[in-house]
Amino acid sequence: MNTINKAKIAVVGAGIAGSTIALYLSELGLNVTLFEQGTSLVNGPPICHLHAGGNLYREISDEACVTLLKESIDLLRFYPNSVDYRPTVVAVPIEDSGSPKDLFARLNRLQNEYKVLIQKDPQNRVLGKSSEYFKLYDRKMLETLQKEVTPKKPQNLDEWMIPVSKNIDLQRVQFPLIIVQEYGLNIFRLASTVSLALEEKEKCKVLLEHKVVDIKKGDKSWFVGVKNQKLTEYKKFDFIINAAGFRSGKLDDMLGYQRERFVEFKAAYISKWEECDTIWPEVIFYGQRGTPQGMAQFTPYPNGYFQLHGMTKDITLFEDGLVKSSKTSAQPELKTKFIQKIDKAWKPSDIKNRSQLAIGHLAQYIPAFKSATVISKPLYGAQQIPGGDDTKRTADVSFEDERYARCEIVKASSVLTMADSITKQLIHLGYVDKNLYGKREFESLKKINEQSISKYAQSLCITRNYPVSLAKRNIV
Ligand SMILES: Cc1cc2nc3c(=O)[nH]c(=O)nc-3n(C[C@H](O)[C@H](O)[C@H](O)COP(=O)(O)OP(=O)(O)OC[C@H]3O[C@@H](n4cnc5c(N)ncnc54)[C@H](O)[C@@H]3O)c2cc1C
Repeated sequence: MNTINKAKIAVVGAGIAGSTIALYLSELGLNVTLFEQGTSLVNGPPICHLHAGGNLYREISDEACVTLLKESIDLLRFYPNSVDYRPTVVAVPIEDSGSPKDLFARLNRLQNEYKVLIQKDPQNRVLGKSSEYFKLYDRKMLETLQKEVTPKKPQNLDEWMIPVSKNIDLQRVQFPLIIVQEYGLNIFRLASTVSLALEEKEKCKVLLEHKVVDIKKGDKSWFVGVKNQKLTEYKKFDFIINAAGFRSGKLDDMLGYQRERFVEFKAAYISKWEECDTIWPEVIFYGQRGTPQGMAQFTPYPNGYFQLHGMTKDITLFEDGLVKSSKTSAQPELKTKFIQKIDKAWKPSDIKNRSQLAIGHLAQYIPAFKSATVISKPLYGAQQIPGGDDTKRTADVSFEDERYARCEIVKASSVLTMADSITKQLIHLGYVDKNLYGKREFESLKKINEQSISKYAQSLCITRNYPVSLAKRNIV
């Protein structure tokens, strides 16, 4: 056993951040207790896109895109069974003030960075050949593809473009269209993988329906007050990891720590397109966030199911949905109507109206999609964005006390950067052997097979009231 000291670690919150760090540290040999107030792991806001290059976000820096690329490759190698292996098509609508050309320099840089990553470690070649990281399609190429038979399983970039060429209104977009190797990331499969891996870990105690309601600071220790049913019990820990997602500020407030952050409530809608018998790539239609032409995102699942985002105030975004912390509280206060949506339920009329608007938003560019129907409640939730810039998309962890880590991921792909920083701190405290820094190969993950991940993920869809197709993949 390489662990120097059997420190006791409390992780509060079992979203992707808390569940991954609990698994990670128990694999390093530490005693971990994972407290989750809900009834299952990774049941927070949606995760559907692996941002392997940040190409959904024109507004972020090239450096942030490179970070997202590296982190996504790391995550894909860690959780390969949670990835939907299909590329993403980026289209710039004609009415948009931008041009596809604005993206070329960044795409070339990302392609080069990917090439270098493969040269450093051939196992990084998880997004295909670097020469095929992206490809441009002009109108003529798309018109040629329109004449091809749509394949059952696309084998190359041209084949992925066939349904796009046949269904997108080519009058509505600028050329070229761009296809890029950004894949899907499946929240049900992530939840399944990490749940199955943690079942095997004696070193990690998973306590569901346990809400942390108080934390008191001791001498090099913490006393964590945990409520289960009606009882509140205090337990002592050496190190605490706040992974409470958009409620992280509540824990900061318990300890009087100040922290600037935003919280944003958003939703994505689930629809079924009966006539669709084709495997699609994801398709993004750029647009200015918060305006009626805000970005539209078309995320495919098997059997004609599609998840839809529309970055307008009537679809994914909400009036007053973005709130900020104050001088007196590190917890931004979302209005009661949003907390009720998160903790209880949506009104059926809200589900219908917003989902229909989402279908209409996408049908502007994919006319045949107007026949799609609303199929379930949306995927939704609130996410935190640390600091004072609400467009930030890369963040991982901050430390307040040398024994208090605060997970602050904005995108799921940052969880391993976060795990490395926490490990570094635990090495500094003498709790972990320095040779374990950056470890990625874990037996508990290798042991779980595709079949058991799929089965468990589908059972999560059923308990959470979503169609089981959301747990399936077209390309395994
Ligand atoms: C509409 C939408 C779409 C998104 N799409 C993507 C995407 O495509 N790709 C991507 O990478 N990211 C996406 N995100 C962001 C992503 O969902 C979040 O970054 C991610 O879920 C954050 O994970 P987390 O573990 O930090 O927090 P959460 O998933 O929120 O987990 C926090 C957990 O802590 C628990 N908890 C809170 N307080 C307590 C307490 N006191 N005691 C015990 N338990 C507690 C909660 O119950 C919860 O389970 C999206 C977000 C939204 C809103």
